[in-house]
Amino acid sequence: MNKKNQHFDSKVIHAGQSVEPVTGAVMPPIFLTSTYVQESPGVHKGFEYTRSHNPTRYALERCIARLEGSELTEEQDASYGGFAFSSGMAAISTTLDLLNAGDHIIAMDDLYGGTNRLFTKVKERSAGLQFSFVDLTNLSLLENAITDKTKLIWIETPTNPMLKLVDLEGVVNIAKDRGILLACDNTFATPALQHPLDMGFDIVMHSATKYLAGHSDVVAGILVTGNPELAERIRFVHNSAGPILSPFDSYLVLRGIKTLSLRMRRHCESAKRIATWLNTQESVELVIYPGLSSHPQFEIAEKQMQIDGELAGGGMITCIIAGGIEKSKSFLEKLEIFSLAESLGGVESLVEHPAIMTHASVSPENRAELGIEDGLVRLSIGIEDCGDLIADLEQALA
Ligand SMILES: *Cc1c(COP(=O)(O)O)cnc(C)c1O
Repeated sequence: MNKKNQHFDSKVIHAGQSVEPVTGAVMPPIFLTSTYVQESPGVHKGFEYTRSHNPTRYALERCIARLEGSELTEEQDASYGGFAFSSGMAAISTTLDLLNAGDHIIAMDDLYGGTNRLFTKVKERSAGLQFSFVDLTNLSLLENAITDKTKLIWIETPTNPMLKLVDLEGVVNIAKDRGILLACDNTFATPALQHPLDMGFDIVMHSATKYLAGHSDVVAGILVTGNPELAERIRFVHNSAGPILSPFDSYLVLRGIKTLSLRMRRHCESAKRIATWLNTQESVELVIYPGLSSHPQFEIAEKQMQIDGELAGGGMITCIIAGGIEKSKSFLEKLEIFSLAESLGGVESLVEHPAIMTHASVSPENRAELGIEDGLVRLSIGIEDCGDLIADLEQALA
């Protein structure tokens, strides 16, 4: 069967993979080597130094490239336009390194806290880049924010932690063909649900630490492009600055991706059930979940977040516990199955308090504007028994 036509469930296991030629190993060996022997100066098997080339990293990069919809051939780019990084932040930083000092970037206003920090506290100073943060749930604001210096639009959808959605097709309609790179942080949705490249985006980014790896045991980042010229530029910075993923960690992420489809189905199914249940609880003031019809951008979710043609709202839920910081703290302390920890997207359920934990680096005024209240908690729904998870939430709310 033509690999391109395979269902996503098959692609997560086979996309971009080839049998190891020497032994026939089904899984790629972990090539723990920094360098490769040459027969004669400049005569080698395509591998010179692991910062530039590593077969285990290639196996991961080719897999995620295909899952995100890149159709680049090996001749166009050795890893089909997929690039693996030592963290999600390293992948974002590399995207900014494609730009020049003085360039202007428009970013979604509600962003992962670390992304906001990299933009405003590092790159503005070190790279001379300029950022505008815009609520892109309202696309009429996008048109007004574009200047002739705008070279990148940085989208997160769903956002962290408010789970706002951006209409990706709408962004493409406004900004395409104006010499502006369009990049989407696809960490929350994953290619199991959402395909920004297919909609006309140039770059997809992942914190592979989250759903792609899926087991809370590795920190990693990904960029994918389907454009050969852009792949060449990313490859150049990747190799020049060197924020590469190690062979061992590449193996872990690739291993995690094998079950991405299965896990995302379960995350979405349980999150939908839990969000619906939380909505009926008096001690919960507000539930934000893209799969609920009460979500402000529910129509966008229906359009761009799907598994097998059906709406899939993802595995993240944000809610406001009535009674402010004291009540939300005691709720968080009483949970037994949910672990109180930063991060998300693993097989185990996690819960966190954005104002104190992940988004402490966002200023209090900015947090207030975004709606990150003191009673706000963020749940990452794992793949445990859903009834057990609801029982845990019930006892902690009581
Ligand atoms: C975690 C996260 C990042 C940062 O990735 P790291 O792997 O922690 O460096 C970026 N974007 C989103 C949406 C995230 O959740």
